[in-house]
Amino acid sequence: MLNPRFDEQPDISELQAALTTRLVSDPQLVAPYARDTSRAVATGAPIAVVLAESTADVSTALAWATRAGVPVSVRGAGTGLAGGAMGYDGGLVVSLERMTAILDIDVDNRLATVQPGVITATLDATAREHGLFFPPDPASARISTVGGNIATNAGGLRCVAHGVTTDSVAALEVVLADGRVMRTGARTRKNVVGYDLTRLFVGSEGTLGIITQAIVRLKPVAPGSPRSFRASFSSLEDAGLAVTAIVNGPTQPEVLELMDSLSVEIIESFHPSGLEVPAGAMLVGQTVGLDAETKAEDITTLCRTLGADDTEISETDALLEARRLSNPALNARGLKISCDVGVPVAALARMFHGVAEVSAAHSKRVSTVAHAGDGNLHCTVESPDTPTGISEADAVIDDITRLALSLGGTISGEHGIGSVKRHELGWQLDEVALDVQRSIKAALDPGGILTPDRAI
Ligand SMILES: Cc1cc2nc3c(=O)[nH]c(=O)nc-3n(C[C@H](O)[C@H](O)[C@H](O)COP(=O)(O)OP(=O)(O)OC[C@H]3O[C@@H](n4cnc5c(N)ncnc54)[C@H](O)[C@@H]3O)c2cc1C
Repeated sequence: MLNPRFDEQPDISELQAALTTRLVSDPQLVAPYARDTSRAVATGAPIAVVLAESTADVSTALAWATRAGVPVSVRGAGTGLAGGAMGYDGGLVVSLERMTAILDIDVDNRLATVQPGVITATLDATAREHGLFFPPDPASARISTVGGNIATNAGGLRCVAHGVTTDSVAALEVVLADGRVMRTGARTRKNVVGYDLTRLFVGSEGTLGIITQAIVRLKPVAPGSPRSFRASFSSLEDAGLAVTAIVNGPTQPEVLELMDSLSVEIIESFHPSGLEVPAGAMLVGQTVGLDAETKAEDITTLCRTLGADDTEISETDALLEARRLSNPALNARGLKISCDVGVPVAALARMFHGVAEVSAAHSKRVSTVAHAGDGNLHCTVESPDTPTGISEADAVIDDITRLALSLGGTISGEHGIGSVKRHELGWQLDEVALDVQRSIKAALDPGGILTPDRAI
């Protein structure tokens, strides 16, 4: 069934003539674009996919979609966890997967100019050849695109030291819904010219325009060898208090993550790496610089004074690799009902206490991994994959989300709203704020063709 707002099956012959082989309409090839990596269920099949190779292709596609009144979904690698990139029934998909060029690395200004489909880890590796790196580091860095990271304002492991994706975006090229091409931002460190449209498009989840080029900021790689560290706590709340102390302390880590005991158990059974399951939780992190060892010692010593029973410092990346496996490990168990809430970092211990209370009240086991230094939690509910099991798990997530809001938090720290969390929007945004968001959407996409009914 087509989206009720778009009730006619479109004639794609004009678009086919313009894009030739860059437009794919074979249902078998189109089918994978109906879904992303979220729990959201596809409601039908798109009619075609534009495998864009240039800004002009994207412009042609959007101008046609606006004329024809066809809903468009935008796709990087489809690793999103909010249902934002899912194809619409009878809609058009614009995929950026072929726009993978790194156009320029400007070492002196520490900038890279890239097409949106470049894989995050590829950009990072290329920058490293010049002694630089790309700070955004989602756990999906090896499979997600820079365009997708920008469109979701992705977070990740290094955020505690370097901020989220928006802090690394200097300028964008964007194709608007009617096909017009616009540039935002500048190559300079400072730029105060008109509204900050770059930040408006960062995190806009494909609803305001399609990012076809980005100038992103790089940073110099710290000298010396990094160290990773672990601190195991018998109490999850003590681990939360330790995070608050570390973040406010004199020694700053590059990475500061948390896995509770159930998460470690799930990760270890998916891919054993010898991690001992703690009674409460495990903090894992990284320090960098010539004094990386001393920094790791300072942080683990602080953890011991705050209740850690066991600590470890390592020259390898194994601890962080284990943390990166949490999403695949949960998926392998069929566990997908999770959240992405954030709380102010000083509220972490209270949040963990509250999550335990919610879990007990619903008699459901909840596992938590967290980009702890940012106060960003992914809690996943163990529940059968049946309609009842799913709705029981949803009720747990709703309570955890309201708990985060009661502590001054947010319903999404990094994954965005997409289609999965749209019902929660009004829990955080007041009516006026929602109205302003909708006005911005209407101004840029009056026909409502771009990623309709998602994100805002
Ligand atoms: C194993 C795993 C680990 C993950 N870890 C993290 C993590 O640590 N931190 C984190 O933030 N996320 C994480 N994610 C979620 C996901 O990887 C991120 O949201 C990522 O930024 C999505 O990139 P993508 O290229 O796959 O985008 P997609 O999933 O294709 O799209 C995501 C959204 O962006 C829009 N979009 C994509 N490209 C463009 C474009 N060029 N222009 C306009 N809109 C666009 C889409 O319409 C959609 O709304 C993880 C996912 C997995 C599977």
